[in-house]
Amino acid sequence: MSKFFTNRYSTLTPYTPGEQPRDKKYIKLNTNEAPFPPSPKAIAAAAEAAERLQLYPDPTYRALHTAVADYHGLAPDEVLLTNGSDEILNFAFMAFCDEQCPAVFPNITYGFYSVFATLNHIPYTEIPLKEDFSVDVAALKRASGTLFIANPNAPTGLALTLGEIEELLQSNPDRVVVVDEAYVDFGGQTAVPLVHKYGNLLVTRTFSKSRSMAGARLGYGVGCKELIGDLNTIKYSTNPYNVNSMSAAAGLGVMADEAYTQQNCKTIIKNRESAKTELKKLGFEMTDSLGNFLFIRHPRVGGKAVYSALRERGILVRHFDKAPIADYNRITVGTAEEMAALVAALAEIVKE
Ligand code: PMP
Repeated sequence: MSKFFTNRYSTLTPYTPGEQPRDKKYIKLNTNEAPFPPSPKAIAAAAEAAERLQLYPDPTYRALHTAVADYHGLAPDEVLLTNGSDEILNFAFMAFCDEQCPAVFPNITYGFYSVFATLNHIPYTEIPLKEDFSVDVAALKRASGTLFIANPNAPTGLALTLGEIEELLQSNPDRVVVVDEAYVDFGGQTAVPLVHKYGNLLVTRTFSKSRSMAGARLGYGVGCKELIGDLNTIKYSTNPYNVNSMSAAAGLGVMADEAYTQQNCKTIIKNRESAKTELKKLGFEMTDSLGNFLFIRHPRVGGKAVYSALRERGILVRHFDKAPIADYNRITVGTAEEMAALVAALAEIVKE
């Protein structure tokens, strides 16, 4: 740390992203990326937009903005596009939490929530998951502050029903409930249709997973126009051109290729469910994940040991060295070939 780093941030522990190693070619199942390339329409649109990079983007991203609003049956002023969904989540912490209004989220969830809270000097309460790793809805209802719920949750993959989301929304109409739907396209129930019913609901989405565009950094939030208006105030006070022109064009390209996205989601769900079956045969225990990832443990081999043995075999997964999930690994669902290689490697590992 330099002597110039302000006290305001000197104790901040930043988020640790999953490894992006370059030392050798791994089967990369550690960061929940899509195993498929972006839609050809997205690639062509980004290439075309590259020819106009001398210009700033339209800060409203009108074409993509309208396409996303139409996709959800919402008005454009109910949508805000951001640089990945990480950005809209940070905006939500900035806009809807402060010293008097803490953030509330489960103790095991997306690791960035606590970082955003600390970055913005927001106190936060972590509500322990129940023993079966499900989110404790009753405790969240009782807690006071802005709720942040990943649905499906990460890294467990377990999802709340829409009924449970409604219970959270109704528990206190005077607080915002942020539902992070990064993984909803792989089997969860979306809360987007509730936007017109609840003025305290913000749903965040990403193009990083089901739309194969993690490198483009494109996400968005939907909510009533007042909430989106607040988030726009934050956007225009930090970075009006928060999405680059090539990513916005690519986003429009993939929105025009919904069949491609749907097909890829179907394949991931199929690969996830067959991997679950194969891994159960090897004695692995797992959550009923509805994400594009598995969350598995073996009764005889520790989580760290499984992680290291897979790494030695050229397969990268994500291990969180944290109670109560240190026995587990989170494994992104890849292609059928990648999953076959994973199952073969794990069969060797549990035999040793
Ligand atoms: N929410 C959850 C639950 C995530 O796991 C992630 C990233 N993996 C994000 C949000 C952020 O994704 P992005 O910024 O790529 O949209």
